[in-house]
Amino acid sequence: MSAASLTRDLVVTHTRALKLPGLARTFEGLARQARDAHWPHEDYLQEVLSAELASRHDSVMRQRLREARFPEVKTLDTFDFAAAEGVNATQIHTLARGEWVTAPQNLILAGPIGTGKTHLAIALGVEATKQKRRVWFARAADLVRQLLEARDARELTRLQQRLFRIEVLILDELGFVHFDRVGGELLFNLLTDRYERKATVVTTNLAFAEWVTVFAGDEKLTTALLDRLAHHATVITTKGKSYRMRKRRGEG
Ligand code: ADP
Ligand code: MG
Repeated sequence: MSAASLTRDLVVTHTRALKLPGLARTFEGLARQARDAHWPHEDYLQEVLSAELASRHDSVMRQRLREARFPEVKTLDTFDFAAAEGVNATQIHTLARGEWVTAPQNLILAGPIGTGKTHLAIALGVEATKQKRRVWFARAADLVRQLLEARDARELTRLQQRLFRIEVLILDELGFVHFDRVGGELLFNLLTDRYERKATVVTTNLAFAEWVTVFAGDEKLTTALLDRLAHHATVITTKGKSYRMRKRRGEG
């Protein structure tokens, strides 16, 4: 075995022991470049460390994306702003920068079916994963069902703690399914926990005045819940006809 290949094998062994997969993948190619261009040793070291950092950032992002459980990945570049009534492209691109997550602010996307609410919620969630934020997407009804099941199994505290670690919680389709009193209270508690501490996104086909129907007609609970959710919130009201329907009819 040549001295060079012995060194190579040792480097590979060390990268495994030190868990440096990005360095393992790049060190040989970069070494060739370094030799050809006569880089100082420090420059080579800088390059392999940068490659490791980039690879770590990538793998965290991919993991955050998996954990978010988006039903399908939607992005801002596939969103047609010209076809979206009530949606301001500048505002969405500002939100994509993620300061609202740090603040934290909530986001409420309200409007008729098919007007891009879920698409925007997912796309902004994807942007947040790129900033290494923990994101979780759930239909509001599914989340309430999970909370109820956890409560019955005496695992509510654990689920609540898990949810609190989520920096961007997306509750999709609030209003499609009505909750009973206990379900409504569990959702209320969740939003109270997150109030001014973690960002929440809600998409809904309902106007605020109609939310009370979702919470078994409980005015007091609905008002308190809306209060927490809307206090520091950006509200985007989408309008018009379903995007897909318009596409099908060739309305552009
Ligand atoms: P909503 O959640 O408001 O009911 P969706 O976001 O699910 O609507 O949109 C329905 C479908 O139409 C999705 O496939 C979505 O990607 C697409 N869509 C809606 N609005 C737009 C838009 N402005 N640009 C591109 N695709 C859109
Ligand atoms: Mg939707």
